[in-house]
Amino acid sequence: MSLAVAPEFALRVRRNEPLSRHTSWHVGGPADVFFSPRDRADLAAFLRTLPEEVAVQWIGLGSNLLVRDGGIRGVVISTHGTLDALARVAETTVHAEAGVACARLARQCIKWGLGPAEFFAGIPGTLGGALAMNAGAFGGETWRHVLRVETIDRGGRVRTRAREEYQVGYRTVRAPAPEEWFLSADLSFERKPGAHAGEVRTLLDKRKAAQPIGEWSCGSVFTNPPGDHAARLIEAAGLKGYRLGDASVSQKHANFIINHGQARAQDLEGLIAHVRATVERVHGVALSPEVRIVGVP
Ligand SMILES: Cc1cc2nc3c(=O)[nH]c(=O)nc-3n(C[C@H](O)[C@H](O)[C@H](O)COP(=O)(O)OP(=O)(O)OC[C@H]3O[C@@H](n4cnc5c(N)ncnc54)[C@H](O)[C@@H]3O)c2cc1C
Repeated sequence: MSLAVAPEFALRVRRNEPLSRHTSWHVGGPADVFFSPRDRADLAAFLRTLPEEVAVQWIGLGSNLLVRDGGIRGVVISTHGTLDALARVAETTVHAEAGVACARLARQCIKWGLGPAEFFAGIPGTLGGALAMNAGAFGGETWRHVLRVETIDRGGRVRTRAREEYQVGYRTVRAPAPEEWFLSADLSFERKPGAHAGEVRTLLDKRKAAQPIGEWSCGSVFTNPPGDHAARLIEAAGLKGYRLGDASVSQKHANFIINHGQARAQDLEGLIAHVRATVERVHGVALSPEVRIVGVP
């Protein structure tokens, strides 16, 4: 589809960009238009020129996104490799833009003697994605550290919003208004003078022992139901290793689904549906996907 883009951006957008290049599952059809802003002013100018009817999808590191094989009609805005300012702005306050990788945030906080931020090292996404998902690991959770966020809307308007304006729960964040995306956050930590890189290494080693790190996945596919673990339910339903096309339920961690190289989004979505239906039949529990499924089949 030939989507009109203002002339000043026409040479800089990528058209029909395969999203398989931008997702950790390595699947996903093309985006009509793929845009990496130079900075926030550039982003605001781009948003202002977009016609109302054009759909907008944001992407960070694509580590929690299943993009369907038909791709995305409209515009994809990518923050990875841009919007990456990171600074300590007060004794225990860090200002980070949405494109900052969580692993970098963890490393830098340790250098500054701030914590607990080590858990961010285990989240292979951007801060923007972590804010959208309330990503968490090893007992830590993104929004516990948020003081305020800056958002941008379709008109390119920037707002500062307090943490209290968001309804935040386990892997859910309800924003006060639709179509407002995260530009940055001010994050609060504690002084942790003894913090050192070894702590991150220990957490990552622990993770590596339990999860198929290095294989193509999106991390946990389902959220844990109250009082239980999705992985336990999936394993107990006999689904470890269950395969559809070139995708399978991980042998190492049953809440991970692996693309072995040639899987299509259709296989992954089919496998997600099969796991969900089987767990519901066997255990009477309806699992909710944590992964965000977007695009057209
Ligand atoms: C191996 C592996 C391990 C993982 N382990 C964990 C874990 O321990 N804990 C955990 O919570 N998650 C984990 N994940 C999932 C994933 O890393 C997190 O959900 C992460 O926060 C997603 O960030 P992202 O930048 O990749 O977001 P994307 O996948 O690019 O996007 C996810 C969602 O966020 C939205 N989004 C992205 N940027 C913005 C923005 N600036 N403003 C508004 N919305 C935005 C997107 O539109 C999309 O809806 C894991 C994934 C993998 C592959």
